[in-house]
Amino acid sequence: MNTKSGAVLVLSGPSGAGKSSLINKIIDDIGDCYFSISTTTRPMRQGEKEGVHYHFVTHEEFVKDIEEDHFLEYATVHGNYYGTSLKPVRDALHDGKLVLFDIDVQGNDAVKNRLGDITTSVFITTPSLSELQRRLQSRSTDSQEVIEKRIKMSRKEVQRISEYDYLVINDNLDEAAEVLRLIAKAARMKIPSTDINQFVQEWEDI
Ligand code: 5GP
Repeated sequence: MNTKSGAVLVLSGPSGAGKSSLINKIIDDIGDCYFSISTTTRPMRQGEKEGVHYHFVTHEEFVKDIEEDHFLEYATVHGNYYGTSLKPVRDALHDGKLVLFDIDVQGNDAVKNRLGDITTSVFITTPSLSELQRRLQSRSTDSQEVIEKRIKMSRKEVQRISEYDYLVINDNLDEAAEVLRLIAKAARMKIPSTDINQFVQEWEDI
């Protein structure tokens, strides 16, 4: 059986739920993986770096990439474009890596449609809406207007939790990270349907 097949782990959830902190906490413990760096038209936040947190581009550059079919998926979130470039993902999967995506509910939908049989999805959120509000306010990287947009969006996003395989409540960072580590390890074991057919055939022939 082809043991070099990669797998996909989609992480979604409201901004401020702690996705980035959780990813940083588990990334060294989950084996060979590739964190997909999205492209966005949103302005860079304080502390963010080009090519580390996102590829920051202009609206025109993003539209050109859409026209040239460079994206696995893209969506408009909080009024800005966000997209996942296809090529690095394809390469990482080919190398047998676990590909991690931090994308929204629309992105999860698109990835599921294209890579469903190797995709595991997790929705990460705070224990409550008021806790999310508190975290966004204390983060102080966004204006009040942006915070309000994010809160509004998060109320819509939680309505779609049932589209995910797992729900992780990030109340305690260490505990949530431990759960996510287990999910990531299991995600890697997902077998593409083509490999299952091959495995059954070989198993019967031996
Ligand atoms: P933020 O501006 O807080 O970094 O991200 C806002 C939202 O955009 C988050 O929910 C994040 O998961 C989502 N997002 C980031 N990159 C992508 C992407 O490439 N595609 C999609 N669909 N959503 C993304």
